Amino acid sequence: MLPSEYHRRLPYGERMSPEPLVGHPFFPFEGDVQVVPLAEPVLPEPPRAGEPGGKPCAKCADPDGFVIWRDDQWSLKAFGPTGLPFVAVLEPQEHYRLDNLPAELTATLGPMIQRVAKAIQGIDSVARTHFNRWGDGSEHFHLWFMARPLGMMQLRGAMIAAWDDMLPKIPEDEFAANARQVAAALAEDGGETVGR
Ligand SMILES: [Zn+2]
Repeated sequence: MLPSEYHRRLPYGERMSPEPLVGHPFFPFEGDVQVVPLAEPVLPEPPRAGEPGGKPCAKCADPDGFVIWRDDQWSLKAFGPTGLPFVAVLEPQEHYRLDNLPAELTATLGPMIQRVAKAIQGIDSVARTHFNRWGDGSEHFHLWFMARPLGMMQLRGAMIAAWDDMLPKIPEDEFAANARQVAAALAEDGGETVGR
């Protein structure tokens, strides 16, 4: 039933030790950290949003929902207020996965990543813009952008996503100003801002 040798080796039902992480400078927890018991694989995997049998694709159901900037190919959503100075999602306008993204979209993906990272880095509280592709929730290809605040060295690395959930949310007007700034910076090189 287990699909591979990798899966057959794993100790289902047991708790892994958090020891490799506790004390690491990028790990935001200390003390008695208890890891959840390791769950067995679920096969076939449940459908993601936008897949047959799954929930409808949120992007296709509401193409401009949360969108702050768009052009013919791409749009940028901003969710907020967040704990980080800025969190955004880049998506193609049409429904594609990474593996079937047409050549004309893959050709502009690199420049878009650079433009979005640069636009977010223009916010005065931001040192660096991280971006991640997880894709476990929705089939519609999407890249997450997370702004790491200047000087906040504990927020380096992948745990920045956990910090975003734990930090106090920025004020609504600051979020709106950051969203306007990022959208305007993107629009300088093409596309249009979308009013909120
Ligand atoms: Zn879609």
